[in-house]
Parts: sequence; structure tokens; C-alpha cells
Amino acid sequence: HSKITGKARITHYDAALNSARERQLMIENDIREGLEREEFDVWYQPIVDAHSQTMIGVEALARWPRRPDGELKPDDFIPIAETSGLIYALGQFVLRRACSDLQQIDTLKLSVNISPAQFRDPEFEDKVARVLETCLFPAHRLQLEVTETYVLENPERARSAIANLKALGTAVALDDFGTGYSSIGYLRRFNFDTIKIDKSLAGLVDDDVQASALVSGTIRIASALGMQVVAEGVENEKQMKLLRQAGCEQLQGYYFSPPLPLNEILQLPIWRKR
Ligand code: C2E
Ligand code: MG
Ligand code: MG
Ligand code: MG
Repeated sequence: HSKITGKARITHYDAALNSARERQLMIENDIREGLEREEFDVWYQPIVDAHSQTMIGVEALARWPRRPDGELKPDDFIPIAETSGLIYALGQFVLRRACSDLQQIDTLKLSVNISPAQFRDPEFEDKVARVLETCLFPAHRLQLEVTETYVLENPERARSAIANLKALGTAVALDDFGTGYSSIGYLRRFNFDTIKIDKSLAGLVDDDVQASALVSGTIRIASALGMQVVAEGVENEKQMKLLRQAGCEQLQGYYFSPPLPLNEILQLPIWRKR
């Protein structure tokens, strides 16, 4: 795909040469092609119980390792998949792959990210139910992660989708809490099972008094409202201890492990270290 101009090899997505729109279209076409060629992969990051320090679940994260001129990160391709509608196919792929990968490992919960666009599909809940059936994956082991954007876009649809998913037995988590504008009091109405505190907030507990106060407050309120709390972006022992002291029961971050292929996750000492 690279363009050759004279001697210089210009990378595929060179932003200086291509307008943002052209770059977007290129990536869009590549995603379509990548889906057809089954180039996408799913890696997993452990979610750890703060007290036993053992893995109780994993978050599935899309990976696209193909490019010779550098892997594209989800933050680069997910937004384009969303605007182009390709997220439906990509999202289904991730859900199906993750459910079939984790099917046999019945002590682990599985958390999968869902884009606002996927939720807009009125048949979304039915599609989830069908994947669970085909993969023989127990609904209660699955949790879907959505962001605040989704909830604010169409609160009525969000409430009914969340209710339908919970009726299936599947849990729903609010991802990236702390990056948006909504209060926990407003978000409470959506009956999330879990709140995931974003790494931009949780990752500051060890050096920012205000962030730390916000994090402990969030943990206390969420717990009082009957929600579970996961802190994301835990990178060192100090953060781990502070978050545990603040009452956070579940932790996720590079301190425990980065996202990895499933077989590598199952080699980690936090797996079954009980
Ligand atoms: P997210 O759902 O909040 O996922 C957590 C992100 O934080 C992951 O980035 C993970 O690698 C990163 N992370 C985990 N621990 C640490 C840490 O200790 N420090 C730092 N600095 N980062 C950490 P990743 O895999 O690049 O994904 C970025 C975002 O892309 C995800 O954020 C999610 O919003 C989206 N995404 C990824 N896979 C999918 C997918 O299959 N579907 C959808 N809809 N979105 C996805
Ligand atoms: Mg997530
Ligand atoms: Mg997050
Ligand atoms: Mg995110």
C-alpha cells in the first residue's frame, strides 16, 4: 500500500500528505478489508480482585496487528469504524471471538466494550442473546462496557437496552467514569452493575490530592448504591494499595498485566494464585 516517491518511502497514513478525510477513507477501506481477511485479533487484560490479588475476569480489547508501518491502536480505528458503520461487524466479531475464547475458562468473567453505534441498533440485545446461545456462553459471566456518551445520546433507549440486557442475565458497566460530565447521581438511574473509574483519574491517586478525594468519594458512593467499582490504569504498587484502602474491590492496569493474547494471560501468576 505504501506510496513510493523518488527514494522516500511514505507511510500509508502520512498525515502531512493526506487530508484528514483521505486518511479516514483509507483506514475505513482497510478496516473493511481487514475484516474480510480476518486480520483482527482479541487480546485480554486481567481484572484482579484487590484483596486476593488474583484474576477474576478479563477485558477483551480489539487488536489489529497487520500494518508493516506500525500497528493501528483502537483509539485510531474504533472511531472510524464507528462513523463508517463497520463497528457492527467489528463489534460482533469481538463479542463472538471473546465468548468462544473464554467459554471453557468458567472461573473468569468477560467484559466486552460496546460502541454507542452498536447500541443504536434496535436488534442489539437480540444479537447478544444469539452470540451467547451459539457460543454456549453463560449470560451471567458476560459484562458489556458502555460509555457516558451513549447514555446521554438517547437516555430512553439506553435505559431499555440496559434493562433488556440485565433481563438476559448480562451485566452492564459504565466505562471511563471521570472523563465525562455526568454525576454519579444522574448515572445511577441507569442501573449499572459496575462503574469503571478511568485511568486519567484512578492513575492519579498517588500524586494528586484532589483526584484522590474524587476517587475515594466515587468508590464510596458507588458502593453505597450497590454498584461494583473497577479502577483502571493501576500502574504501581502504591496506587494499588491506595485504591484498595479506598475500598475499591477490583483493579486493572499494567501493574498486574497489559492486554495480552489469551494463552499468555493464562501463564500469569495472578491466574489461580489463591
Ligand atoms: P477502555 O475500554 O477504557 O480500555 C482500557 C484501555 O486502557 C486499553 O487501551 C488498555 O490497554 C489501556 N490500559 C490498561 N491498563 C493501563 C495502564 O495501567 N496504563 C495505561 N496508560 N493504559 C492502560 P486500548 O486497548 O488501546 O483501547 C483503547 C480504547 O479503545 C478502549 O478503552 C475502548 O474504549 C476502545 N476499544 C478497544 N477495543 C474495543 C472493542 O472491541 N470495541 C469497542 N467498541 N471499543 C474498543
Ligand atoms: Mg473498556
Ligand atoms: Mg475504560
Ligand atoms: Mg476508553
